[in-house]
Amino acid sequence: MSDVIEAGSGTAARRVSEAGGWAAVLLGAMVFTGWAVGNERLMSIDMRFLAMLPNTSVGMMATGGAILLLQVPTHRRVLAARTLATFVFLLAFIVLLSRQLGVELLHVGALFRERVTSYPYRPVGLFATNSTIAFMLSAVALWGISSDIRAARAVARLCSAIGIAIATIALLGHLYDAPALFAFDRFAGMALVTALAFMSIQVGILFLRPHEGAMSLVVERDLAGRLLRRLLPATVLVPIVFGAVWLAGREASFFSRESGVALFIVFLTAWNAGALLLSARYLRRADEARTRLLEREQTLRAAAEEASRTKSDFLGVMSHELRTPLNAIIGYVDLMESGISGPVSDAQRSHLTRIRSSASHLIRTVSDILSLTRLDAGSAITALEPVSLRQVLDEVVGILEPLARAKGLALTAHCPDGLVAVGDSHRLRQILINLGGNGVKFTSSGSVAIEAEARGNVIAVTVTDTGIGISPADQERIFDEFWQVEGDLTRRFDGAGLGLAVSRRLARQLGGDVTVTSELGGGSTFTVTVVSASLQAASGSVAAAPAMSPASPSFPA
Ligand code: ADP
Repeated sequence: MSDVIEAGSGTAARRVSEAGGWAAVLLGAMVFTGWAVGNERLMSIDMRFLAMLPNTSVGMMATGGAILLLQVPTHRRVLAARTLATFVFLLAFIVLLSRQLGVELLHVGALFRERVTSYPYRPVGLFATNSTIAFMLSAVALWGISSDIRAARAVARLCSAIGIAIATIALLGHLYDAPALFAFDRFAGMALVTALAFMSIQVGILFLRPHEGAMSLVVERDLAGRLLRRLLPATVLVPIVFGAVWLAGREASFFSRESGVALFIVFLTAWNAGALLLSARYLRRADEARTRLLEREQTLRAAAEEASRTKSDFLGVMSHELRTPLNAIIGYVDLMESGISGPVSDAQRSHLTRIRSSASHLIRTVSDILSLTRLDAGSAITALEPVSLRQVLDEVVGILEPLARAKGLALTAHCPDGLVAVGDSHRLRQILINLGGNGVKFTSSGSVAIEAEARGNVIAVTVTDTGIGISPADQERIFDEFWQVEGDLTRRFDGAGLGLAVSRRLARQLGGDVTVTSELGGGSTFTVTVVSASLQAASGSVAAAPAMSPASPSFPA
Protein backbone atom coordinates (compact mmCIF):
# COMPACT_ATOMS: atom_id res chain seq x y z
CA MET A 1 0.00 0.00 0.00
CA SER A 2 2.92 2.29 0.73
CA ASP A 3 4.11 2.80 -2.82
CA VAL A 4 0.81 3.91 -4.26
CA ILE A 5 0.32 7.23 -2.51
CA GLU A 6 1.86 9.86 -4.72
CA ALA A 7 2.21 12.77 -2.35
CA GLY A 8 5.64 11.84 -0.98
CA SER A 9 7.75 13.39 -3.72
CA GLY A 10 8.40 16.91 -2.46
CA THR A 11 6.12 18.42 -5.06
CA ALA A 12 3.92 21.49 -4.78
CA ALA A 13 0.93 19.12 -4.54
CA ARG A 14 2.47 17.47 -1.53
CA ARG A 15 2.91 20.82 0.15
CA VAL A 16 -0.76 21.67 -0.48
CA SER A 17 -1.84 18.36 1.03
CA GLU A 18 0.42 18.88 4.01
CA ALA A 19 -0.86 22.43 4.49
CA GLY A 20 -4.45 21.08 4.47
CA GLY A 21 -3.57 18.55 7.18
CA TRP A 22 -1.77 21.13 9.32
CA ALA A 23 -4.61 23.67 8.95
CA ALA A 24 -7.12 21.11 10.30
CA VAL A 25 -4.83 20.09 13.18
CA LEU A 26 -4.04 23.70 14.15
CA LEU A 27 -7.64 24.95 13.90
CA GLY A 28 -8.77 21.95 15.99
CA ALA A 29 -6.00 22.60 18.56
CA MET A 30 -6.82 26.31 18.67
CA VAL A 31 -10.52 25.66 19.37
CA PHE A 32 -9.72 22.96 21.94
CA THR A 33 -7.45 25.43 23.76
CA GLY A 34 -10.23 28.02 23.52
CA TRP A 35 -12.63 25.67 25.33
CA ALA A 36 -9.98 24.70 27.85
CA VAL A 37 -9.19 28.30 28.83
CA GLY A 38 -12.63 29.74 28.08
CA ASN A 39 -11.56 32.06 25.26
CA GLU A 40 -14.49 32.62 22.89
CA ARG A 41 -12.42 34.09 20.07
CA LEU A 42 -10.33 30.96 19.89
CA MET A 43 -13.49 28.80 19.81
CA SER A 44 -15.17 30.46 16.87
CA ILE A 45 -12.98 33.09 15.13
CA ASP A 46 -15.90 35.36 14.14
CA MET A 47 -17.96 34.98 17.36
CA ARG A 48 -21.08 36.02 15.55
CA PHE A 49 -22.90 32.75 15.18
CA LEU A 50 -21.37 29.55 16.32
CA ALA A 51 -18.32 28.01 17.87
CA MET A 52 -16.67 24.74 16.91
CA LEU A 53 -17.62 22.20 19.60
CA PRO A 54 -14.86 20.57 21.68
CA ASN A 55 -15.51 17.06 20.27
CA THR A 56 -15.53 18.57 16.76
CA SER A 57 -12.10 20.03 17.46
CA VAL A 58 -10.88 16.56 18.51
CA GLY A 59 -12.29 15.13 15.25
CA MET A 60 -10.47 17.86 13.27
CA MET A 61 -7.14 17.11 14.96
CA ALA A 62 -7.58 13.38 14.28
CA THR A 63 -8.53 13.89 10.60
CA GLY A 64 -5.74 16.44 9.99
CA GLY A 65 -3.30 14.10 11.76
CA ALA A 66 -4.32 11.24 9.45
CA ILE A 67 -3.60 13.40 6.39
CA LEU A 68 -0.17 14.30 7.78
CA LEU A 69 0.57 10.63 8.48
CA LEU A 70 -0.27 9.72 4.88
CA GLN A 71 2.34 12.16 3.54
CA VAL A 72 4.99 9.48 4.05
CA PRO A 73 2.94 6.36 3.52
CA THR A 74 4.89 3.62 5.28
CA HIS A 75 2.89 0.57 6.33
CA ARG A 76 2.74 1.71 9.97
CA ARG A 77 1.75 5.27 9.20
CA VAL A 78 -1.05 4.18 6.87
CA LEU A 79 -2.27 1.85 9.62
CA ALA A 80 -2.19 4.73 12.15
CA ALA A 81 -3.99 7.06 9.69
CA ARG A 82 -6.71 4.48 9.14
CA THR A 83 -7.10 4.01 12.90
CA LEU A 84 -7.64 7.78 13.27
CA ALA A 85 -10.11 7.74 10.35
CA THR A 86 -12.05 4.90 12.01
CA PHE A 87 -12.14 6.85 15.28
CA VAL A 88 -13.51 9.92 13.49
CA PHE A 89 -16.13 7.83 11.67
CA LEU A 90 -17.31 6.20 14.92
CA LEU A 91 -17.41 9.58 16.71
CA ALA A 92 -19.58 11.02 13.93
CA PHE A 93 -21.74 7.91 13.78
CA ILE A 94 -22.44 7.97 17.54
CA VAL A 95 -23.33 11.68 17.33
CA LEU A 96 -25.67 10.92 14.41
CA LEU A 97 -27.38 8.11 16.34
CA SER A 98 -27.62 10.24 19.47
CA ARG A 99 -29.24 13.07 17.48
CA GLN A 100 -31.69 10.69 15.80
CA LEU A 101 -32.58 8.81 19.01
CA GLY A 102 -32.62 11.93 21.17
CA VAL A 103 -30.36 10.18 23.71
CA GLU A 104 -26.69 11.02 24.18
CA LEU A 105 -24.83 7.72 23.66
CA LEU A 106 -21.44 6.96 25.26
CA HIS A 107 -21.13 10.51 26.69
CA VAL A 108 -20.22 11.68 23.24
CA GLY A 109 -20.84 15.36 24.07
CA ALA A 110 -19.28 15.34 27.52
CA LEU A 111 -16.11 17.37 26.82
CA PHE A 112 -16.15 20.73 28.69
CA ARG A 113 -19.87 20.11 29.25
CA GLU A 114 -20.32 23.04 31.68
CA ARG A 115 -19.04 25.56 29.19
CA VAL A 116 -20.83 23.91 26.25
CA THR A 117 -24.18 24.01 28.11
CA SER A 118 -24.04 27.81 28.23
CA TYR A 119 -24.08 27.88 24.40
CA PRO A 120 -27.36 27.71 22.49
CA TYR A 121 -26.42 24.34 20.96
CA ARG A 122 -29.08 21.66 21.36
CA PRO A 123 -28.80 18.80 22.11
CA VAL A 124 -25.81 19.85 24.24
CA GLY A 125 -22.42 18.90 22.77
CA LEU A 126 -23.71 17.12 19.64
CA PHE A 127 -22.28 18.63 16.50
CA ALA A 128 -24.58 19.61 13.63
CA THR A 129 -25.83 17.13 11.00
CA ASN A 130 -23.83 18.72 8.15
CA SER A 131 -20.65 18.48 10.24
CA THR A 132 -21.50 14.87 11.10
CA ILE A 133 -21.87 13.96 7.42
CA ALA A 134 -18.73 15.87 6.52
CA PHE A 135 -16.77 13.93 9.16
CA MET A 136 -18.09 10.59 7.92
CA LEU A 137 -17.24 11.50 4.32
CA SER A 138 -13.73 12.55 5.38
CA ALA A 139 -13.18 9.24 7.20
CA VAL A 140 -14.33 7.19 4.20
CA ALA A 141 -12.18 9.35 1.93
CA LEU A 142 -9.12 8.74 4.10
CA TRP A 143 -9.63 4.98 3.91
CA GLY A 144 -10.22 5.08 0.18
CA ILE A 145 -7.37 7.40 -0.74
CA SER A 146 -4.85 5.18 1.06
CA SER A 147 -6.07 2.08 -0.76
CA ASP A 148 -4.48 0.12 -3.63
CA ILE A 149 -7.87 -0.34 -5.22
CA ARG A 150 -8.62 2.13 -7.98
CA ALA A 151 -12.37 2.16 -7.39
CA ALA A 152 -11.83 2.86 -3.68
CA ARG A 153 -9.72 5.89 -4.57
CA ALA A 154 -12.43 7.10 -6.96
CA VAL A 155 -14.98 6.80 -4.11
CA ALA A 156 -12.57 8.76 -1.90
CA ARG A 157 -12.45 11.59 -4.44
CA LEU A 158 -16.24 11.62 -4.68
CA CYS A 159 -16.56 11.80 -0.86
CA SER A 160 -14.07 14.67 -0.74
CA ALA A 161 -15.93 16.53 -3.50
CA ILE A 162 -19.24 16.21 -1.59
CA GLY A 163 -17.37 17.30 1.56
CA ILE A 164 -16.13 20.40 -0.28
CA ALA A 165 -19.69 21.17 -1.42
CA ILE A 166 -21.01 20.93 2.17
CA ALA A 167 -18.19 23.15 3.50
CA THR A 168 -18.67 25.67 0.65
CA ILE A 169 -22.43 25.96 1.33
CA ALA A 170 -21.68 26.59 5.01
CA LEU A 171 -18.97 29.15 4.17
CA LEU A 172 -21.32 31.01 1.84
CA GLY A 173 -23.97 30.91 4.55
CA HIS A 174 -21.54 32.68 6.87
CA LEU A 175 -20.42 35.11 4.17
CA TYR A 176 -23.98 36.03 3.19
CA ASP A 177 -25.44 35.83 6.71
CA ALA A 178 -27.76 33.02 5.59
CA PRO A 179 -28.11 30.62 8.58
CA ALA A 180 -30.17 28.16 6.52
CA LEU A 181 -27.00 27.33 4.60
CA PHE A 182 -24.86 26.35 7.61
CA ALA A 183 -27.48 25.30 10.16
CA PHE A 184 -29.70 22.53 8.84
CA ASP A 185 -30.74 21.58 12.39
CA ARG A 186 -32.89 23.80 14.56
CA PHE A 187 -30.33 24.55 17.25
CA ALA A 188 -27.05 23.51 15.74
CA GLY A 189 -24.94 24.44 12.72
CA MET A 190 -21.49 24.34 11.17
CA ALA A 191 -19.36 27.15 12.58
CA LEU A 192 -17.25 29.28 10.23
CA VAL A 193 -14.06 27.86 11.71
CA THR A 194 -15.47 24.33 11.28
CA ALA A 195 -16.30 24.97 7.61
CA LEU A 196 -12.76 26.28 7.03
CA ALA A 197 -11.27 23.22 8.72
CA PHE A 198 -13.42 20.86 6.61
CA MET A 199 -12.36 22.69 3.45
CA SER A 200 -8.69 22.23 4.41
CA ILE A 201 -9.28 18.55 5.14
CA GLN A 202 -10.88 17.80 1.76
CA VAL A 203 -8.16 19.70 -0.11
CA GLY A 204 -5.54 17.85 1.94
CA ILE A 205 -7.09 14.49 1.03
CA LEU A 206 -7.51 15.28 -2.68
CA PHE A 207 -3.90 16.43 -2.99
CA LEU A 208 -2.67 13.14 -1.54
CA ARG A 209 -3.34 11.68 -5.02
CA PRO A 210 -2.79 14.66 -7.28
CA HIS A 211 -2.28 12.68 -10.48
CA GLU A 212 -5.50 10.70 -10.48
CA GLY A 213 -8.99 11.53 -11.70
CA ALA A 214 -10.05 15.13 -12.16
CA MET A 215 -7.23 16.20 -9.80
CA SER A 216 -4.75 15.42 -12.55
CA LEU A 217 -6.31 18.20 -14.61
CA VAL A 218 -5.47 20.62 -11.82
CA VAL A 219 -1.86 19.63 -11.26
CA GLU A 220 -0.43 18.35 -14.54
CA ARG A 221 1.96 20.53 -16.54
CA ASP A 222 0.11 19.98 -19.81
CA LEU A 223 -2.02 22.53 -21.64
CA ALA A 224 -5.21 21.48 -19.81
CA GLY A 225 -3.50 21.88 -16.44
CA ARG A 226 -2.08 25.30 -17.26
CA LEU A 227 -5.42 26.56 -18.54
CA LEU A 228 -7.32 25.20 -15.56
CA ARG A 229 -4.92 26.64 -13.00
CA ARG A 230 -5.27 30.07 -14.61
CA LEU A 231 -9.06 30.04 -14.67
CA LEU A 232 -10.19 27.94 -11.74
CA PRO A 233 -9.53 30.34 -8.82
CA ALA A 234 -11.27 33.26 -10.52
CA THR A 235 -14.11 31.04 -11.78
CA VAL A 236 -14.80 30.01 -8.18
CA LEU A 237 -14.27 33.38 -6.51
CA VAL A 238 -15.82 35.85 -8.95
CA PRO A 239 -19.46 34.63 -8.65
CA ILE A 240 -19.06 34.50 -4.84
CA VAL A 241 -17.87 38.12 -4.84
CA PHE A 242 -20.73 39.13 -7.19
CA GLY A 243 -23.18 37.50 -4.77
CA ALA A 244 -21.69 39.42 -1.85
CA VAL A 245 -21.83 42.68 -3.85
CA TRP A 246 -25.44 42.00 -4.83
CA LEU A 247 -26.38 41.49 -1.18
CA ALA A 248 -24.51 44.61 -0.06
CA GLY A 249 -26.18 46.62 -2.86
CA ARG A 250 -29.58 45.37 -1.82
CA GLU A 251 -28.97 46.22 1.83
CA ALA A 252 -27.88 49.72 0.89
CA SER A 253 -30.92 49.92 -1.43
CA PHE A 254 -28.78 50.79 -4.44
CA PHE A 255 -31.08 48.80 -6.70
CA SER A 256 -34.33 46.93 -6.60
CA ARG A 257 -34.45 43.12 -6.43
CA GLU A 258 -35.18 42.86 -10.17
CA SER A 259 -32.53 45.29 -11.34
CA GLY A 260 -30.09 43.70 -8.89
CA VAL A 261 -30.68 40.29 -10.44
CA ALA A 262 -30.33 41.80 -13.93
CA LEU A 263 -27.02 43.44 -12.96
CA PHE A 264 -25.84 40.23 -11.32
CA ILE A 265 -26.60 38.30 -14.51
CA VAL A 266 -24.96 40.93 -16.73
CA PHE A 267 -21.75 40.88 -14.68
CA LEU A 268 -21.73 37.10 -14.42
CA THR A 269 -22.30 36.70 -18.16
CA ALA A 270 -19.60 39.27 -18.90
CA TRP A 271 -17.23 37.41 -16.64
CA ASN A 272 -18.08 34.07 -18.24
CA ALA A 273 -17.63 35.46 -21.75
CA GLY A 274 -14.35 37.10 -20.69
CA ALA A 275 -13.11 33.82 -19.23
CA LEU A 276 -14.06 32.00 -22.44
CA LEU A 277 -12.27 34.59 -24.57
CA LEU A 278 -9.20 34.33 -22.36
CA SER A 279 -9.18 30.53 -22.71
CA ALA A 280 -9.65 30.79 -26.47
CA ARG A 281 -6.74 33.23 -26.76
CA TYR A 282 -4.60 31.00 -24.59
CA LEU A 283 -5.44 27.98 -26.75
CA ARG A 284 -4.71 29.89 -29.95
CA ARG A 285 -1.29 30.95 -28.63
CA ALA A 286 -0.52 27.39 -27.62
CA ASP A 287 -1.61 26.21 -31.04
CA GLU A 288 0.57 28.81 -32.78
CA ALA A 289 3.55 27.82 -30.65
CA ARG A 290 2.97 24.17 -31.55
CA THR A 291 2.74 24.97 -35.25
CA ARG A 292 5.99 26.94 -35.05
CA LEU A 293 7.65 24.00 -33.32
CA LEU A 294 6.34 21.61 -35.95
CA GLU A 295 7.64 23.82 -38.77
CA ARG A 296 11.00 24.07 -37.06
CA GLU A 297 11.09 20.32 -36.61
CA GLN A 298 10.29 19.81 -40.30
CA THR A 299 13.01 22.23 -41.38
CA LEU A 300 15.56 20.56 -39.12
CA ARG A 301 14.48 17.11 -40.29
CA ALA A 302 14.85 18.15 -43.94
CA ALA A 303 18.33 19.55 -43.19
CA ALA A 304 19.29 16.35 -41.36
CA GLU A 305 18.05 14.20 -44.24
CA GLU A 306 19.97 16.33 -46.72
CA ALA A 307 23.12 16.04 -44.59
CA SER A 308 22.64 12.27 -44.37
CA ARG A 309 22.23 12.04 -48.17
CA THR A 310 25.38 14.11 -48.69
CA LYS A 311 27.26 11.87 -46.26
CA SER A 312 26.05 8.74 -48.08
CA ASP A 313 27.01 10.17 -51.48
CA PHE A 314 30.43 11.15 -50.17
CA LEU A 315 31.03 7.73 -48.59
CA GLY A 316 29.84 5.99 -51.75
CA VAL A 317 32.23 7.95 -53.95
CA MET A 318 35.12 7.60 -51.52
CA SER A 319 34.58 3.85 -51.16
CA HIS A 320 34.75 3.38 -54.91
CA GLU A 321 37.84 5.57 -55.14
CA LEU A 322 39.55 3.56 -52.39
CA ARG A 323 38.61 0.11 -53.68
CA THR A 324 40.18 0.59 -57.10
CA PRO A 325 43.76 1.26 -55.88
CA LEU A 326 43.40 -1.35 -53.14
CA ASN A 327 42.45 -3.99 -55.70
CA ALA A 328 45.43 -2.88 -57.78
CA ILE A 329 47.72 -3.30 -54.75
CA ILE A 330 46.47 -6.86 -54.22
CA GLY A 331 46.79 -7.60 -57.94
CA TYR A 332 50.43 -6.46 -57.99
CA VAL A 333 51.16 -8.43 -54.84
CA ASP A 334 49.84 -11.54 -56.64
CA LEU A 335 52.00 -10.72 -59.65
CA MET A 336 55.14 -10.26 -57.58
CA GLU A 337 54.42 -13.45 -55.58
CA SER A 338 54.08 -15.43 -58.81
CA GLY A 339 57.66 -14.47 -59.64
CA ILE A 340 56.87 -12.90 -63.03
CA SER A 341 58.85 -9.80 -62.22
CA GLY A 342 61.84 -11.67 -60.80
CA PRO A 343 62.66 -14.08 -57.97
CA VAL A 344 61.10 -13.37 -54.54
CA SER A 345 63.08 -14.03 -51.38
CA ASP A 346 61.47 -15.55 -48.27
CA ALA A 347 61.63 -12.22 -46.45
CA GLN A 348 60.00 -10.45 -49.40
CA ARG A 349 57.27 -13.15 -49.57
CA SER A 350 56.50 -12.61 -45.89
CA HIS A 351 56.28 -8.84 -46.51
CA LEU A 352 53.99 -9.43 -49.49
CA THR A 353 51.71 -11.60 -47.32
CA ARG A 354 51.41 -8.76 -44.83
CA ILE A 355 50.70 -6.25 -47.59
CA ARG A 356 47.91 -8.48 -48.94
CA SER A 357 46.38 -9.05 -45.51
CA SER A 358 46.38 -5.31 -44.74
CA ALA A 359 44.94 -4.43 -48.14
CA SER A 360 42.25 -7.14 -47.77
CA HIS A 361 41.32 -5.77 -44.39
CA LEU A 362 41.03 -2.27 -45.84
CA ILE A 363 38.87 -3.56 -48.71
CA ARG A 364 36.51 -5.27 -46.24
CA THR A 365 36.11 -2.08 -44.22
CA VAL A 366 35.54 -0.05 -47.37
CA SER A 367 33.00 -2.65 -48.56
CA ASP A 368 31.14 -2.38 -45.25
CA ILE A 369 30.99 1.40 -45.59
CA LEU A 370 29.76 1.06 -49.16
CA SER A 371 27.12 -1.47 -48.10
CA LEU A 372 25.97 0.86 -45.38
CA THR A 373 25.50 3.73 -47.81
CA ARG A 374 23.66 1.42 -50.22
CA LEU A 375 21.49 0.13 -47.38
CA ASP A 376 20.69 3.75 -46.49
CA ALA A 377 19.86 4.43 -50.10
CA GLY A 378 17.81 1.19 -50.31
CA SER A 379 19.88 -0.25 -53.17
CA ALA A 380 21.94 -2.90 -51.36
CA ILE A 381 20.02 -5.95 -52.59
CA THR A 382 19.76 -6.05 -56.34
CA ALA A 383 17.94 -9.33 -57.07
CA LEU A 384 16.64 -12.38 -55.21
CA GLU A 385 17.89 -15.61 -56.74
CA PRO A 386 18.36 -19.26 -55.69
CA VAL A 387 21.58 -19.49 -53.68
CA SER A 388 23.40 -22.75 -53.07
CA LEU A 389 24.47 -22.68 -49.44
CA ARG A 390 27.22 -25.22 -50.07
CA GLN A 391 28.76 -22.99 -52.73
CA VAL A 392 28.60 -19.89 -50.55
CA LEU A 393 30.11 -21.68 -47.55
CA ASP A 394 32.83 -23.07 -49.78
CA GLU A 395 33.81 -19.58 -50.88
CA VAL A 396 33.65 -18.21 -47.34
CA VAL A 397 35.89 -20.96 -46.02
CA GLY A 398 38.30 -20.37 -48.92
CA ILE A 399 38.67 -16.75 -47.84
CA LEU A 400 38.86 -17.34 -44.08
CA GLU A 401 41.06 -20.42 -44.13
CA PRO A 402 44.43 -18.55 -44.45
CA LEU A 403 43.47 -16.24 -41.57
CA ALA A 404 42.43 -19.16 -39.34
CA ARG A 405 45.56 -21.11 -40.24
CA ALA A 406 47.76 -18.12 -39.40
CA LYS A 407 46.25 -18.09 -35.86
CA GLY A 408 46.39 -21.87 -35.46
CA LEU A 409 42.58 -22.19 -35.33
CA ALA A 410 40.55 -25.09 -36.71
CA LEU A 411 38.04 -23.78 -39.23
CA THR A 412 35.30 -26.30 -39.99
CA ALA A 413 32.13 -26.07 -42.01
CA HIS A 414 29.19 -28.35 -42.54
CA CYS A 415 26.36 -28.07 -45.01
CA PRO A 416 23.80 -30.79 -45.84
CA ASP A 417 23.31 -31.52 -49.52
CA GLY A 418 20.73 -29.54 -51.44
CA LEU A 419 20.28 -26.56 -49.17
CA VAL A 420 19.13 -23.65 -51.34
CA ALA A 421 18.13 -20.25 -50.07
CA VAL A 422 16.32 -17.43 -51.81
CA GLY A 423 18.59 -14.41 -51.59
CA ASP A 424 21.58 -12.60 -52.98
CA SER A 425 24.67 -14.83 -52.95
CA HIS A 426 27.05 -11.87 -52.90
CA ARG A 427 25.35 -10.42 -49.81
CA LEU A 428 25.05 -13.78 -48.02
CA ARG A 429 28.76 -14.33 -48.60
CA GLN A 430 29.50 -10.86 -47.23
CA ILE A 431 27.48 -11.59 -44.08
CA LEU A 432 29.19 -14.92 -43.46
CA ILE A 433 32.66 -13.49 -44.10
CA ASN A 434 31.90 -10.79 -41.53
CA LEU A 435 30.69 -13.31 -38.94
CA GLY A 436 33.40 -15.88 -39.65
CA GLY A 437 36.06 -13.14 -39.79
CA ASN A 438 34.91 -11.93 -36.35
CA GLY A 439 35.02 -15.51 -35.08
CA VAL A 440 38.65 -15.82 -36.16
CA LYS A 441 39.51 -12.31 -34.96
CA PHE A 442 38.09 -12.74 -31.46
CA THR A 443 39.37 -16.31 -30.86
CA SER A 444 42.96 -16.97 -29.79
CA SER A 445 42.76 -20.77 -29.53
CA GLY A 446 40.24 -23.43 -30.43
CA SER A 447 37.97 -23.41 -33.42
CA VAL A 448 35.47 -21.58 -35.58
CA ALA A 449 32.66 -23.78 -36.92
CA ILE A 450 30.18 -22.81 -39.63
CA GLU A 451 27.08 -24.99 -39.97
CA ALA A 452 24.05 -24.68 -42.19
CA GLU A 453 20.75 -26.48 -41.59
CA ALA A 454 17.13 -26.24 -42.66
CA ARG A 455 14.72 -25.06 -39.94
CA GLY A 456 11.20 -25.12 -41.33
CA ASN A 457 10.83 -22.36 -43.89
CA VAL A 458 14.25 -20.91 -43.22
CA ILE A 459 17.84 -21.93 -43.48
CA ALA A 460 19.96 -21.15 -40.44
CA VAL A 461 23.71 -20.79 -40.70
CA THR A 462 25.49 -20.73 -37.34
CA VAL A 463 29.01 -19.43 -36.85
CA THR A 464 30.34 -20.71 -33.53
CA ASP A 465 33.69 -19.74 -32.05
CA THR A 466 35.54 -20.56 -28.84
CA GLY A 467 36.72 -16.98 -28.39
CA ILE A 468 36.39 -14.19 -25.84
CA GLY A 469 32.57 -14.15 -25.81
CA ILE A 470 30.27 -11.16 -25.31
CA SER A 471 28.51 -10.09 -22.08
CA PRO A 472 24.65 -9.93 -22.15
CA ALA A 473 24.73 -6.12 -21.92
CA ASP A 474 27.09 -5.84 -24.90
CA GLN A 475 25.06 -8.33 -26.93
CA GLU A 476 22.36 -5.65 -27.12
CA ARG A 477 24.74 -3.13 -28.65
CA ILE A 478 27.13 -4.97 -30.95
CA PHE A 479 24.67 -4.60 -33.83
CA ASP A 480 24.81 -0.79 -33.57
CA GLU A 481 26.85 1.03 -36.21
CA PHE A 482 30.44 1.89 -35.21
CA TRP A 483 30.02 0.16 -31.86
CA GLN A 484 32.71 -2.07 -30.38
CA VAL A 485 32.93 -3.79 -27.00
CA GLU A 486 36.41 -2.45 -26.39
CA GLY A 487 36.68 1.31 -26.21
CA ASP A 488 39.13 3.25 -28.38
CA LEU A 489 41.85 3.33 -25.74
CA THR A 490 41.71 -0.35 -24.79
CA ARG A 491 41.36 -1.75 -28.33
CA ARG A 492 43.28 -4.96 -29.04
CA PHE A 493 41.43 -5.82 -32.25
CA ASP A 494 41.15 -3.89 -35.48
CA GLY A 495 37.83 -3.09 -37.15
CA ALA A 496 35.42 -0.21 -37.59
CA GLY A 497 32.41 -1.62 -35.73
CA LEU A 498 30.40 -1.86 -38.94
CA GLY A 499 30.41 -5.58 -39.84
CA LEU A 500 27.55 -6.71 -37.60
CA ALA A 501 25.42 -3.63 -38.29
CA VAL A 502 25.76 -4.17 -42.02
CA SER A 503 25.26 -7.95 -41.73
CA ARG A 504 22.06 -7.64 -39.73
CA ARG A 505 20.59 -4.99 -42.03
CA LEU A 506 21.49 -7.05 -45.11
CA ALA A 507 19.99 -10.21 -43.57
CA ARG A 508 16.81 -8.37 -42.70
CA GLN A 509 16.55 -7.04 -46.22
CA LEU A 510 16.85 -10.63 -47.40
CA GLY A 511 13.88 -11.58 -45.17
CA GLY A 512 15.98 -13.11 -42.38
CA ASP A 513 18.01 -11.88 -39.41
CA VAL A 514 21.30 -12.16 -37.53
CA THR A 515 21.14 -13.06 -33.83
CA VAL A 516 23.72 -13.92 -31.19
CA THR A 517 24.03 -16.16 -28.15
CA SER A 518 27.21 -15.80 -26.19
CA GLU A 519 28.83 -16.04 -22.81
CA LEU A 520 31.69 -13.84 -21.67
CA GLY A 521 34.82 -16.00 -21.91
CA GLY A 522 32.81 -18.91 -23.32
CA GLY A 523 32.67 -18.23 -27.06
CA SER A 524 29.84 -16.95 -29.25
CA THR A 525 27.36 -18.31 -31.74
CA PHE A 526 26.00 -15.98 -34.42
CA THR A 527 23.03 -17.27 -36.41
CA VAL A 528 22.03 -15.99 -39.85
CA THR A 529 18.62 -16.99 -41.11
CA VAL A 530 17.65 -16.78 -44.77
CA VAL A 531 14.51 -17.78 -46.62
CA SER A 532 14.64 -21.35 -47.88
CA ALA A 533 13.73 -22.28 -51.45
CA SER A 534 11.39 -25.29 -51.83
CA LEU A 535 13.02 -28.72 -51.63
CA GLN A 536 12.17 -29.51 -55.24
CA ALA A 537 13.91 -26.42 -56.44
CA ALA A 538 16.72 -27.18 -54.05
CA SER A 539 17.72 -30.47 -55.61
CA GLY A 540 17.78 -28.90 -59.08
CA SER A 541 19.92 -25.97 -57.99
CA VAL A 542 22.36 -28.02 -56.02
CA ALA A 543 22.94 -30.33 -58.93
CA ALA A 544 23.98 -27.27 -60.90
CA ALA A 545 26.15 -25.92 -58.13
CA PRO A 546 29.86 -26.62 -58.23
CA ALA A 547 31.29 -29.16 -55.78
CA MET A 548 33.12 -28.14 -52.64
CA SER A 549 36.50 -26.64 -53.25
CA PRO A 550 39.21 -29.17 -52.55
CA ALA A 551 41.37 -26.20 -51.57
CA SER A 552 39.51 -26.06 -48.26
CA PRO A 553 40.80 -29.10 -46.44
CA SER A 554 38.98 -28.35 -43.18
CA PHE A 555 35.63 -28.32 -44.98
CA PRO A 556 34.06 -31.79 -44.85
CA ALA A 557 33.14 -32.93 -48.36
P1 ADP B 1 34.34 -4.90 -35.88
O1 ADP B 1 34.78 -4.44 -37.21
O2 ADP B 1 34.79 -4.04 -34.76
O3 ADP B 1 34.57 -6.35 -35.64
P2 ADP B 1 31.57 -5.68 -35.84
O4 ADP B 1 30.32 -4.91 -36.08
O5 ADP B 1 31.80 -6.87 -36.70
O6 ADP B 1 32.75 -4.66 -35.92
O7 ADP B 1 31.55 -6.14 -34.35
C1 ADP B 1 31.25 -5.21 -33.33
C2 ADP B 1 31.84 -5.65 -32.03
O8 ADP B 1 31.19 -6.81 -31.57
C3 ADP B 1 33.29 -6.05 -32.13
O9 ADP B 1 34.15 -4.94 -32.04
C4 ADP B 1 33.45 -6.96 -30.92
O10 ADP B 1 33.61 -6.18 -29.76
C5 ADP B 1 32.10 -7.66 -30.87
N1 ADP B 1 32.11 -8.96 -31.52
C6 ADP B 1 31.67 -9.26 -32.76
N2 ADP B 1 31.82 -10.57 -33.02
C7 ADP B 1 32.39 -11.12 -31.93
C8 ADP B 1 32.81 -12.46 -31.58
N3 ADP B 1 32.68 -13.48 -32.43
N4 ADP B 1 33.34 -12.64 -30.36
C9 ADP B 1 33.48 -11.62 -29.49
N5 ADP B 1 33.11 -10.34 -29.77
C10 ADP B 1 32.58 -10.10 -30.97
